[in-house]
Amino acid sequence: MTESLIPVLSPAEVFEISSPGRRAVFLPELDVPKAELPEELLREDLPLPEVSEGDLMRHYVHLSQLNHAVDTGFYPLGSCTMKYNPKVNEEAAKLPGFTRTHPYQDHCTVQGNLKLMYELQEYLKEIGGFAGVSLQPAAGAHGEFTGILMMRAYHEERGDTKRTKVLIPDSAHGTNPASSAMSGYQAVEIKSDERGNVDLEELRAHCDDTVVGLMLTNPNTLGLFEEQVLEVAELVHGCGGLMFGDGANMNSIMGIARPGELGIDVMMFNLHKTFSTPHGGGGPGSGPVGASERLARYLPGPIVVKDEKCDCHKEKTSEVSETSEVYACYHLEMPEASIGRVKAFYGNFGVFIKAYTYVRMLGAEGLKQVSEDAVLAANYLLARLKKVYPLPYDRTCMHEFVLSGPLPQAPDVHTVDIAKRLMDYGFHPPTVYFPLIVPEALMIEPTETESKETLDAFAEAMLKIAEEAQENPDLLHKAPHTTPVTRLDEVRAARHPRLRWKPS
Ligand SMILES: *Cc1c(COP(=O)(O)O)cnc(C)c1O
Repeated sequence: MTESLIPVLSPAEVFEISSPGRRAVFLPELDVPKAELPEELLREDLPLPEVSEGDLMRHYVHLSQLNHAVDTGFYPLGSCTMKYNPKVNEEAAKLPGFTRTHPYQDHCTVQGNLKLMYELQEYLKEIGGFAGVSLQPAAGAHGEFTGILMMRAYHEERGDTKRTKVLIPDSAHGTNPASSAMSGYQAVEIKSDERGNVDLEELRAHCDDTVVGLMLTNPNTLGLFEEQVLEVAELVHGCGGLMFGDGANMNSIMGIARPGELGIDVMMFNLHKTFSTPHGGGGPGSGPVGASERLARYLPGPIVVKDEKCDCHKEKTSEVSETSEVYACYHLEMPEASIGRVKAFYGNFGVFIKAYTYVRMLGAEGLKQVSEDAVLAANYLLARLKKVYPLPYDRTCMHEFVLSGPLPQAPDVHTVDIAKRLMDYGFHPPTVYFPLIVPEALMIEPTETESKETLDAFAEAMLKIAEEAQENPDLLHKAPHTTPVTRLDEVRAARHPRLRWKPS
């Protein structure tokens, strides 16, 4: 077993390092008149820990090491695409030309920012096969909500007001029904068939003139490509509904299949997943929405538009033609029948820079290879693990796959125990108990950025854990053993979280 590199410290050892009189900063003697501060704002005593600069540094660096991170270890959290985030993205996002701009600036003074946004819109149109893209939404779920509002605007503009139902496959992410409900619609569950596809008979039975549309995740959350995606789209369009694409899983089809060509009318991209910008811990994310020809006019705005003639360079006309590429210019515009704004200003601009850098670094061929390598990595792990772990839908997978627990030879060991034990081996657990249609699900997404050695080490750990489950189930029930905190009471942690240090 790999020993954790991090010493296991009690909370007291981590936090109670204060010693009276120690200081991390020493202020010089006052050489200006002392100002009187309002009495009511001053506290007699502020119980802050007293530590030296060195202790302070060690404290925070140590805390940062208590977390598992993409930069410290394998993170196969299914559906979340926890790929390595290239550091060049951060360098680009830090450039002063970007960080020192303000959203209220005149568009002529931020042409570089607008050009970056415009080109990112164009890349996403190309990758997704869409007629238009808006970068506004702040994350995937927000993009879903936006997409449903656009579908509503489409139906309402046609006077088609009977439609109240959004069809959602039973394998979908929980945000899909939530986005439908938040838009005032009823979410209706569609069963999957025995191959893990949308059940066409079920769909036919529900498809009528009350259907707003269907939310399709393709590949779905079982990591399987919808084999009848064209039939599904045809059925839904046939009863007057629209197709929403949950684009969180583009990491397996980018550069290979374009959702817009598979019948998807509107889809969100998760820049913080597929396009390698850091996520977790609450953000920031970015969930741009792409739309087909008939829905593009409802996109939220403003979006960036390229000018034929640029009014920012009037004085330059003698030397350079106004329409030449160098002096092309960009401005912000609301789409024709826009649903409006869904986010303050223009979206999460910092994330755009990172995603843009990622796309430019890889190019079209590189993005395609990302998908191919992600699929290869997942199928390699699948082939190694399915010999031991039950696999309810036994098909070639895309970027991820879903195993099922418990192991036949260890019925008392549950998925949670396997997940916790993986932490002792230095791995972040996979997504567990999702999708809901797989009992005791273990949803594994390795991503393209892992080496064969890492995949092998993970497979070895999983196989070893299967043996342990049979020989010493209690070892798993009590896992993890080597982490800073061991098995938690998760219900209590969620109900009564202790989110900050308080002086004891
Ligand atoms: C991550 C994910 C979402 C939601 O995206 P957020 O950015 O977390 O809001 C929706 N659907 C699927 C399939 C996902 O994996």
